[in-house]
This record gives sequence, structure tokens and C-alpha cells, in this order.
Amino acid sequence: MLTPEHVKEVLKDNVINLRFHARGGQGGVTASNLCVEAFYGYGICQPKFGAERMGSPTESYVRLSANEDLIRSNEQVYVPHFVAVLDPSLLGEIDVTAGMPKGGWLIVNTSLDQISIQQTVGRSDLNIATIDATRIALDVLGRNITNTIILGALIRVSYIFTLDELSDAIMMRFKGEIAGKNIEAIKQAIEETCIYDIGIDPDFSIDSKVPWQQVELGLPGYKEVDKAGVWYCDESVIPVGSDQINTGSWGEWDVIWDKEICTDCAQCWYICPDFAILREKGEDNLWHMSGIDSFHCKSCLNCLEICPVNAISKKLKQGPAACAVPEEQGGHN
Ligand code: SF4
Ligand code: SF4
Repeated sequence: MLTPEHVKEVLKDNVINLRFHARGGQGGVTASNLCVEAFYGYGICQPKFGAERMGSPTESYVRLSANEDLIRSNEQVYVPHFVAVLDPSLLGEIDVTAGMPKGGWLIVNTSLDQISIQQTVGRSDLNIATIDATRIALDVLGRNITNTIILGALIRVSYIFTLDELSDAIMMRFKGEIAGKNIEAIKQAIEETCIYDIGIDPDFSIDSKVPWQQVELGLPGYKEVDKAGVWYCDESVIPVGSDQINTGSWGEWDVIWDKEICTDCAQCWYICPDFAILREKGEDNLWHMSGIDSFHCKSCLNCLEICPVNAISKKLKQGPAACAVPEEQGGHN
């Protein structure tokens, strides 16, 4: 069983990964946001929606660490140390244990016992925590919204954050009576969580450290991508592809890249919708960022937002308004 001291030590030099499985409308994404808001260190969360409708399965991912340098990846969590399942019907529908390492914690909103859950998911190498969050939600909140309640079970087994820290995050997010009822429900969940501890802790170093690394995929610049994404050009349908269009004239910002600061992580290349991040093959035979193509950069600022080291900045294209005739020469408004 994990202890608060052990978890604090792990977080100094590792990332703890979490995954939430819910149905659209159950608040799985809010639960993942609350984890980041309640955590004392650094964190990031991402949602993944399938069909965008109430009741469809959703996933959301959380990465937490006390070490800011380790919170870099924006991709989905593939190796979750903790998985929370807000809706028990998902157990038979989704492989909720996918990627979980031995000793990981599976937390399920269910009235079934822990051994039954192990059998249902076909894994005997996982620790299981169960909580009848639906009942607590109906009793305390009057609605079947279990997202904050499952976090009570998470506190009980993970020690990632405390009840006080989660209560602060809840009070920031919800108002008055709703916040109070959610905190009351979380307290009840901490007390009522049933734990089946197999005596093995997860290896938190798995999929935890993502060091700066040279991308070896050979990411090309737009000139090497003749038919892809927005550049697609089928001359039998439309006469020109968008590589012919000066999308760079659309935006109001000049986007500026600082080569000295850039660490060549390539995140801007992935996110640019217009293949305007230029890359060149260096003497080391690897691709390196080499600039921003102003003919195609439409100033969406995605790259500026994602750059982890602020190597991209912006400057207004348009200077201050000028009068055709200076005032001192008789110009009037
Ligand atoms: S501002 Fe947008 S279009 Fe321009 S380089 Fe960045 S991501 Fe690409
Ligand atoms: S500009 Fe920023 S996001 Fe783009 S490669 Fe350089 S460090 Fe990465």
C-alpha cells in the first residue's frame, strides 16, 4: 500500500499518470481538471471525446509531478498508474485496464466487490478500490454525478493530494451549497472506499520520464509534403492546393522564432495547421527546425501557445495609425 511519504518521494522525480473513464455528461473531464487544480505541484490534463453526445464513452488523462521539467507531454496517457471508472457499465465495454502496469490501482464506481472486479477485467495483478459513488451521489447531491466522489476514493489510495487541497479546488470551481455538498460526498467516499491491496505498488518510472529527445521521424517541411493535410491538391477537383495560397496574409501577427532558445522539440511542427514550420536536414542527417514560413503562417498562434520554452513570439504587423497629412501641416480629423 502506498504511503503519503512514498508518494511525495515518487513525485519529486517521476510523473504519476491517471486516466478517467466516464460517459459524456458524467463529468470525467471535470474530475481530471480538479486533480490538476488540487495538486500542489505541476500537472496537465487532456480530454478525449468520441462521438460528441451524452452517454458516449469519454476518457481524460492527467499527468502530475513535483518536477516541472517532467510535465511536457501533451499526448494521451498510455501507461496509467491510476485508473478511475465513473460508470460501471464501461467495464464490459472498454478495456479500462489497457496499459496499466502491475500494481496499478483500478478505482471503480460499483456496488460489486473487488474480486468480482478483478475477474471482470481479467487482471489479478492490479490493486482494486471500489466505491458506491452512485448511491452517495443520489443521497448527498440528489443527482447521479459521481465525478467528485470518485476523487475521494483516489485520495484514499493515492495520497496525491489531500482532502483539504481538493476542497479548496472544489470551492474555486463550484459555489455555495453545491461546493459544500460535493465536499461532504467526498468525505463519505474516503470513509466508504473498499480496498483490495495485492501488496504490490506500481513502478512509477514506467512511462514517467520523457527526456528531451531528437525526433528521428524525419519530419519534413511543407515543401517535402506534396499532398497532405491542408495542402491536399487534386487537380481534377480543384485547380490548386492550398500550398498556392498566401495564407500568411490572413493574420495580424508576425510570428517570430528564436533559434537560440529553441530546443528543437518539434511540437510546433505538429500543431501548425498550415505546415508553416520549416525544417531542414542538418549535417547530422536529422531534421531540425529552421524557421517560420511567413507566406503560409496565418498567425493562429498555436505554435506560440504550445512552445514549452517560449521560443516563439509575436509582433503586430500593422504599425501605429498614420495621418495622410501631419497635423502641423494642416491635417484634421
Ligand atoms: S502561428 Fe499558426 S500558422 Fe503560423 S507557424 Fe504558428 S501554428 Fe503555424
Ligand atoms: S520553437 Fe518551440 S515548439 Fe518549436 S521546435 Fe522550437 S522549442 Fe519546440
